[in-house]
Amino acid sequence: MKEKFLGVDVSNYTYAQLKENIMSDINERRKSFIVAINPEKILHAQKDADLLHLLNRATYQIPDGVGILVASKMTGGSIRERVTGIDMLLALCEQASLHAKSIFLYGAKPGVAEQAKDRLKSMYPDLQIAGVLDGYEKDKEKVKETINHAQPDILFVALGSPRQEYWIVDHMHELDVQVFQGVGGSFDVLSGKVKRAPDSFQKVGLEWLYRLIKEPWRIKRQIKLPTFLLKVWKDKK
Ligand code: UDP
Repeated sequence: MKEKFLGVDVSNYTYAQLKENIMSDINERRKSFIVAINPEKILHAQKDADLLHLLNRATYQIPDGVGILVASKMTGGSIRERVTGIDMLLALCEQASLHAKSIFLYGAKPGVAEQAKDRLKSMYPDLQIAGVLDGYEKDKEKVKETINHAQPDILFVALGSPRQEYWIVDHMHELDVQVFQGVGGSFDVLSGKVKRAPDSFQKVGLEWLYRLIKEPWRIKRQIKLPTFLLKVWKDKK
């Protein structure tokens, strides 16, 4: 179940449907790959055919960003709920702890994945964390061996986008893992290094405003939203 915006697929599943599908993927040993889609990535993909192809190769393209919800409404689609990368990660950790599946955290600066692991352990005491590895290990074989040795069911990859997505498609077939998710700066947030917007901002869809106040340089990224919506509108006609 996908909707297309400027050539990029976006899944219209809710968290509940995603959780169910992904658990079946693990149980039936089907490899799957989750990528977070926002307007910035879609615009980027307009100028980069490899990126467009890469995003469309994912099993689940989650709608991370209010811009996607607006675009869906505008084109008569049914995406009404944001599914953010970090909330998807948390939802999968919850599922993993309920169904005795294991996870692995790969990426971010040395020490950060370890702190993210501690945080996840305090949230989900039964969660099996098969291992962690920072995102600056140069030895590619070592990365592969460490992950395969740990044999997690779910691998979260935090190398920044689109690097983590390229990494996933290049390695998913040689890794003994079922589910792969690119999670950007999520380990930094979990470790407490970077703060997420307060709930009040998130609930009313203003997380972007909070981030803009905290990190004013983001204006360069956020300014792209009207461009995106205009392009979707023109594409529709
Ligand atoms: N990162 C990494 N290895 C690298 C480059 C980046 O592990 O070679 C990590 C970086 O430490 C950070 C994450 O990738 O934790 C990128 O986060 P960012 O917020 O930039 O990603 P975005 O969500 O914007 O894609």
